[in-house]
Amino acid sequence: VRAKGQAYFDLTGKALSLNGTLQDITERKREEERKDDFIAMASHELKTPLTSMSAYIQLVRKRALKEDNSFVASALEKAEQQAAKMATMINGFLNVSRLESGKIYIERTVFDLATLFQEVKQDYAALSAHHEIFFPQVPHLHLHADREKIGQVMGNLISNAVKYSPSGSKVEISCEVKETEVEVGIKDNGMGIMEEDQQHIFERYYRVKGRQMSDIGGFGVGLYLCSEIIQAHGGRISVSSELGKGSTFSFALKHH
Ligand code: ADP
Repeated sequence: VRAKGQAYFDLTGKALSLNGTLQDITERKREEERKDDFIAMASHELKTPLTSMSAYIQLVRKRALKEDNSFVASALEKAEQQAAKMATMINGFLNVSRLESGKIYIERTVFDLATLFQEVKQDYAALSAHHEIFFPQVPHLHLHADREKIGQVMGNLISNAVKYSPSGSKVEISCEVKETEVEVGIKDNGMGIMEEDQQHIFERYYRVKGRQMSDIGGFGVGLYLCSEIIQAHGGRISVSSELGKGSTFSFALKHH
């Protein structure tokens, strides 16, 4: 809690009153609610035309296939894939705006971490033509967790590493298996994060302010989601970073 205010004590040191703090929380909460409402409304409004657009794309694609127009058919297939991606993002925003802290729904299964890494590698190795993304050799290891959501956490962290570091730099993913837990790290050589911002970046809608940041788009929900997901698993997520040098985001989960 960012407390602004003053505490008053009596002569024995007993607290008499606390001014300011409560008001601050209310104002922050109201601000968050306004953003939640806006995002929920905007996402909802965007869904309708997108659904209709997808339907038309599919219709024309079917026609093109029938008429053996493979050029048009394959272009429309790509358009359809992008529309599907957009729908997933919009649903993601809707989820975030409805998400109250500690209310995330986790569906655990037992899966092999090495297989998940392989999948993430396939999806993200080509994320950027301008970055070298290094994946480690991961031993077979059973996790009892929400496979899709852990994949989402890794994806978010890798996307951020690419997004906040210059072309030509390296992103290194690491995986350390300890006695009871496994720790995954995503290290970039990017802009880094000031210490005072590090304390807040996992909060919903928090974005670092600054000159470099103004032309990088975002909503400040990615890390919030990551942290909610990891916490719901009883795990830990953290960052260590140096301004101008780079950042390492790590999360740790218990394994079997
Ligand atoms: P978004 O990227 O949409 O702003 P996130 O929740 O993913 O939202 O990140 C919150 C903020 O944390 C970002 O705005 C950025 O300032 C900072 N940040 C996240 N990842 C990195 C990184 N790898 N390097 C530097 N800054 C980062």
